[in-house]
Amino acid sequence: MRTVLPNELAVLDTLARNLRWCWNEPTVKYFASLDPDAWERAGHDPVALLGEISPERFQQLAADSAVVEEAQQLAADLNLYLTEDKWYQSEFSNSDKPAAIAYFSAEFGITTVMPQYSGGLGILAGDHLKSASDLGVPIVGVGLLYGAGYFRQSLSRDGWQRETYPLLDPHNLPLTLLREADGSAARISLPLPEGRVLNAQIWVAQVGRVPLLLLDSDVPDNDDASRSVTDRLYGGSAEHRLEQELLLGVGGVKALRVYSRLTGTPRPEVYHCNEGHAGFMSVERIRELMEGEAQVDLGTAIEAVRSGTLFTTHTPVPAGIDRFDKNTVRTYLSAMPLPGVDVEDILALGNESYEGGNPHVFNMAVLGLRMARKANGVAKLHGKVSRGMFASLWPGFDVPEVPITSVTNGVHGPTWRSPSFQSMALDYMSVLEDAEGNGWLKSEDQGGVPDEVLWNKRRELRSALVDSARERARAAWLERGASPAEIGWTGSILDPDVLTIGFARRVPTYKRLTLMLSDPERLTRLLTDPERPIQLVIAGKSHPDDEQGVGLIQKLVQFADNPKVRDRIVFLPNYDMGMAQVMMPGCDVWLNNPLRPLEASGTSGMKCALNGALNLSILDGWWDEMYDGSNGWAIPTADGIEDPQRRDQLEAQALYDLIENTVAPRFYDRDERGVPRRWLEMMRHTLATLGPKVQATRMVRDYVTNLYTPVAAASRTLDAAPWEQARDLAQWKAKVRGAWSGVHVDFVDAQVPDVAELGDRVSITAEVSLDGLDPEDVAVQVVSGRVGSDDRLEDFSIANLQADGVGADGRRRFMGEETLGVSGPVGYAVRVVPSHPLMDGDTELGLAVNAEPSSVRSHTHTTMGR
Ligand SMILES: *Cc1c(COP(=O)(O)O)cnc(C)c1O
Repeated sequence: MRTVLPNELAVLDTLARNLRWCWNEPTVKYFASLDPDAWERAGHDPVALLGEISPERFQQLAADSAVVEEAQQLAADLNLYLTEDKWYQSEFSNSDKPAAIAYFSAEFGITTVMPQYSGGLGILAGDHLKSASDLGVPIVGVGLLYGAGYFRQSLSRDGWQRETYPLLDPHNLPLTLLREADGSAARISLPLPEGRVLNAQIWVAQVGRVPLLLLDSDVPDNDDASRSVTDRLYGGSAEHRLEQELLLGVGGVKALRVYSRLTGTPRPEVYHCNEGHAGFMSVERIRELMEGEAQVDLGTAIEAVRSGTLFTTHTPVPAGIDRFDKNTVRTYLSAMPLPGVDVEDILALGNESYEGGNPHVFNMAVLGLRMARKANGVAKLHGKVSRGMFASLWPGFDVPEVPITSVTNGVHGPTWRSPSFQSMALDYMSVLEDAEGNGWLKSEDQGGVPDEVLWNKRRELRSALVDSARERARAAWLERGASPAEIGWTGSILDPDVLTIGFARRVPTYKRLTLMLSDPERLTRLLTDPERPIQLVIAGKSHPDDEQGVGLIQKLVQFADNPKVRDRIVFLPNYDMGMAQVMMPGCDVWLNNPLRPLEASGTSGMKCALNGALNLSILDGWWDEMYDGSNGWAIPTADGIEDPQRRDQLEAQALYDLIENTVAPRFYDRDERGVPRRWLEMMRHTLATLGPKVQATRMVRDYVTNLYTPVAAASRTLDAAPWEQARDLAQWKAKVRGAWSGVHVDFVDAQVPDVAELGDRVSITAEVSLDGLDPEDVAVQVVSGRVGSDDRLEDFSIANLQADGVGADGRRRFMGEETLGVSGPVGYAVRVVPSHPLMDGDTELGLAVNAEPSSVRSHTHTTMGR
């Protein structure tokens, strides 16, 4: 039920419903000030707050001109934010920039009050939308509204994770039901097997300028099973999960169409599939093209849909990839048949039809990659790992050529930089802070933040964390069944002056929550050191089905329960965004020790860096590319060690050594004012160098420039009536695939001097059989570069030879000149690849035929240079 607000305060509804409040501190403060008790009761949720405030109190507030005026000002500020030109409108000029982009994700972490996330993937999606809003990028988010979100975590007496699923009431959340002109709830529906139907309504969360459409199957006209499709995030059977993903992908596209129709907003030109869960969106878009005005054939529809799709992969952990039993997927897809299409042809899009693949599964990442014009990983190292992981989809090419690029994740500054830290920064640096963050490096004399001010701020944030941890620890013990008399000690755990190390994230095994327990005695000594103690604040949820993860939490909790150390190490249950917002600014050091290279990016360390906390991490994910030797510490890895226990042991020792010999001494090394000068230097360096790079605005700009815009350009060509180009491309691909087994390089002749020198020119002639293909259908390429240790080419470059008539037996001749551009041992290879101007490069089909060494008349392996 909506509260009836006095006229003078009617704008409060707008302020509460636009989620921009969650990164706009003045609005949050204003809501809190209206009725501090009600604010606590409402769990810091403005929409719930408006329901908590009594009509009498509202009348009082409406009579207070200062209260009314501030509401007007905040509303005016919001309105300006929503309408003014931002980066996308004013600075980013590119005639191909998309009119709208759809961003699909199974989870969104926007604020604590909407617990629709399990971890980093969801929070990244939330930060993506917020930053797109800040930049004016026209994105529409698409997701599901889970009736109970992810679970709430508590602990049993002996430290076992307990899960509860408190139901959320969408009417009490910052959501608006999408309605038809006649006031009825807008609906989408999809057919399920056995004549069942899955209906859903659409809630809109307004994230600043960005609408987020959330599908909700809890509607009366669904049968019980369909009603519970959106019951919780990542719960239930595989079939339940498949139904969720069909709703997200297929239903999501339908919801976008309804939204465009009802609001008059443009249809997206780019469809961004954030991880594989939403992959079925391509199936629905294919259906639209085949059944609608276009009436195109399957091949044409695939090309058209593909041209506008971007796929982002988020995990190098095979278990993190959704794979369904193919028979089950067949059953579901058969319930939504495409005109004249054999369901096997759709199933083939998710087939693991490559060496080592499982013929019985339908792989959502494979579907995502096959149906995407472009694809990316989420950090440089993760891009590289992903190219290796998915290389079998492009069998003709070496790993470095696999067309998966990377955009390194970022975090939304206004969400993750503590407001009090931010206001200190503004006090001293508002004038001189530049985009590079150099303002942090200004000394006290230059008007920068003085050392003592910065250090006092650290202590203030650390104290806030200690206070919050004490409260949470007390509440946790009460929930664990302790009596108040037993737990007085929780009021004095942790110390606001002790070096504070934080560790919080999901608890899959590869993140190694308990690495720090490898040598419990040594950890105990570090915690209780009389001179230079450390303290640890730890949090994290394990997926309920992951017994191993739940066991790790218990092991950690049982260690932390020991009276010998419980003042210095605490596990805080129910990690969520609200806890993160206190924890990350409050820590001095943020620990991350995943099993390299399984952390795709990681983002919590970035949030810490924005608040001047220093990272102590394995060189994995984002840290691998952003650690510079003085902005934190790299825990040495034992990459080559096969025995996992031994590896853990070695890496744990390296971690203890770093803390004991480097981190703690530096923290406790104080000058006459009590300030750790060298620590502060590292903080300033972190703030200056990482501050700008870890921002999600940087990430979204990278997506817009490098991926969304070229994808939109391709879709304008290929997904445009009357779809001739897409048809041509589809027919051409079919022709090439059919002929490919007959394509080979018959003969290569290279004129290479015996002792070649850098800059020498080499002329190369190749004769190839094309089996009916035309010379224009292919590129004949020379791949040349340095010969690496394993005889592969490194740092290679690719040059096309020119068609040069017909050789013996009707073979096609190609020739060209190569300049030898690298020194050292060089090698080259000649190959044929399909080539078409409408493809995104020559790797798209994954086909290549290399010359057999025996067909190369003069092979060189010459040492270059003088
Ligand atoms: C940032 C964040 C994460 C992701 O942390 P990683 O370091 O990427 O694992 C998970 N949960 C919450 C609540 C967060 O704020």
